[in-house]
Amino acid sequence: MIDIKPMKMVKTILCTFGLVMGAIFPVFAGFFITWIPERKLAFCISCLLAGYIVGLFSFYIVKTILLKIENHYKITLSDKLGVEDIINEEKDNDLILNMKSDFKELINKYAALMESQSEHLLHLSITDCLTSTYNHKYLYEYFEKKISEKTSLMTILFCDIDHFKRINDTYGHIKGDLVLQEVAKIIRESTNGNEGVFRYGGEEFVILLENCSGEEGFDIAEKIRLKVCSSDVIKSYCNFEILTISIGLAVYPYDGVQIDTLIHNADSAMYHVKETGRNRCEIYNSEINRKIN
Ligand code: GH3
Ligand code: MG
Ligand code: MG
Repeated sequence: MIDIKPMKMVKTILCTFGLVMGAIFPVFAGFFITWIPERKLAFCISCLLAGYIVGLFSFYIVKTILLKIENHYKITLSDKLGVEDIINEEKDNDLILNMKSDFKELINKYAALMESQSEHLLHLSITDCLTSTYNHKYLYEYFEKKISEKTSLMTILFCDIDHFKRINDTYGHIKGDLVLQEVAKIIRESTNGNEGVFRYGGEEFVILLENCSGEEGFDIAEKIRLKVCSSDVIKSYCNFEILTISIGLAVYPYDGVQIDTLIHNADSAMYHVKETGRNRCEIYNSEINRKIN
């Protein structure tokens, strides 16, 4: 039988060599390919695992060859390789079983890692990186999901920060970004952690409130508006200037059954607020379109 100690050493050397190759490969690959940032980590992990698997595989090949040599010549190689006994068929079987369970374990680990990676990538693809709310793209998917779950009532809030360009121009974009993050936080808190919060554009947020009437939605919109203009955190970013927000609301299914129509109508209500002095909330009605046009 092959002695465990030297074989373990050979295994460690080959696997380490494989890992090192796996770690170096992405560096060389970087000279020839353009990285997609979200895929880079997954690629590097895959290379490491591939290197490890190749190292492990090489070890089993080396070990199998040694066993075959031993069997063939019926000699012991204990001096050089740590072989104690002449190998018999049973030992060969043990080796294959070991090899199988090692690979099975490795493949399971790899599958679990890849699954968590793909969940992470999915999360990144639907999240706005500045505010951690969902992004514009996911709004449409989310709305369709709610419709397919037979949600019968929804209120859509379209929020737009007032004179935000001036905040950027006066206090700089970094402070502007901090303000956006704080507004997103206020929105999340005011909607009791409701998951339907989306960054629609630069300083515009859309909120989808499930099973919520226009009146209930209006109360939530007012809560957001008051919290934004009284926030000490926001004031600290804008030299104690009061930041205000305008919010328009539209209700599914009364103001539209398609997300585009609902957004358009909530946006019209918000625009009407802007036209009439800002820092208010207003529910859409057909008169608004007439006044705007
Ligand atoms: P109004 O009251 O009419 O809405 O005026 P406003 O200045 O808010 O509107 P406008 O659409 O003219 O300006 C939006 C500004 O939002 C323009 C842009 O500089 C800023 N903005 C957009 N995205 C970002 C961002 O990610 N970070 C920062 N800091 N500013 C952004
Ligand atoms: Mg805007
Ligand atoms: Mg604005």
